[in-house]
Amino acid sequence: MQENIIIAGHHAHAQVSTSWQQQLSHAIRDPDTLCQRLGLDAQWLPGAQAGHRLFDICVPDAYLARIKPNDPNDPLLRQVLPIGDETLASPGYVTDPLEEADHRPVKGLIHKYANRVLLIASPACAINCRYCFRRHFPYSENSPSRAQWQEALDYLRADTSIHEAILSGGDPLAASDRQLAWLVEQLESIPHLKRLRIHTRLPVVIPDRVDEGLLSWLGSTRLQKVVVLHINHANEIDQAVVDACTRLKQAGVTLLNQSVLLRDINDNVPTLAALSERLFEAGVLPYYLHVLDPVQGAAHFDVPDKEAQALIQALLEHLPGFLMPRLVREVPGKMSKTPL
Ligand SMILES: *Cc1c(COP(=O)(O)O)cnc(C)c1O
Ligand code: SF4
Repeated sequence: MQENIIIAGHHAHAQVSTSWQQQLSHAIRDPDTLCQRLGLDAQWLPGAQAGHRLFDICVPDAYLARIKPNDPNDPLLRQVLPIGDETLASPGYVTDPLEEADHRPVKGLIHKYANRVLLIASPACAINCRYCFRRHFPYSENSPSRAQWQEALDYLRADTSIHEAILSGGDPLAASDRQLAWLVEQLESIPHLKRLRIHTRLPVVIPDRVDEGLLSWLGSTRLQKVVVLHINHANEIDQAVVDACTRLKQAGVTLLNQSVLLRDINDNVPTLAALSERLFEAGVLPYYLHVLDPVQGAAHFDVPDKEAQALIQALLEHLPGFLMPRLVREVPGKMSKTPL
């Protein structure tokens, strides 16, 4: 994002890009502004207000710019605009669909799978996705302070079977570089840790997040680095996102993507094929295609398993094997994601 700054006395315009923090603090956070900025008909407002009361709207300008104005069916808009259906209860749709509450040996740490541990590095996100399985997550209880991090780090230090630390959230890159550099320095000092994985949507939502501050700690760690982006539609990948991916790759990061299969957003073969193609243009390999977690308020995004499997079968005929995402579901109690 660019802002024109007039430098007094110099009769000059200087283009100064605003920091990612400023972009995040200026994100749209109310239904009226969102509808107004996109020229949406007033009929969308009551639904947006109702959904917003359950899970706040958050859409930064850099993402908004990729949404086609005045088109209620835009696949990016549908990810961020609440609709009245969010207030409907659906059987089987619950507030903690993954039963993660059962797998937290210490605050801010989830250890469900062998060899890898998930750390909640930031409670915040740069965008609020309406289908998110964390929409009811008790973030305030799960964002550790530095003292509490010691407990999580001690847990990692004590279990030599753990080779990979996965930073998650929220969005871990919503944390400051100062905090992240400190955390990664602590992780590096644990000899049995080999890999640092970061699950984030921030380089997609605000590509300027991949700045010097981030690249300095990420580029210099001894740990092998994997960034798993979260992109659901090819339209999310504009030139700024491609450039952010290039910077990450130059810092030695392996780039993967996970998507969620979403009704009326990416639930057809051409859209999924275009997403894989566009990801590869940006230097990113598809990793997972998740079926929706049954979180309360998101039932209208569901694509039934049979349909999802048929889609993947058809997609096989359109893509090389290395651009095929793995269709998976997260089943509470299982030792891995479950292939469908
Ligand atoms: C998804 C997930 C992981 C990572 O699983 P991979 O199959 O390695 O991508 C790790 N921990 C938790 C709690 C998860 O939900
Ligand atoms: S955790 Fe991920 S999917 Fe959920 S709101 Fe944040 S960015 Fe979106």
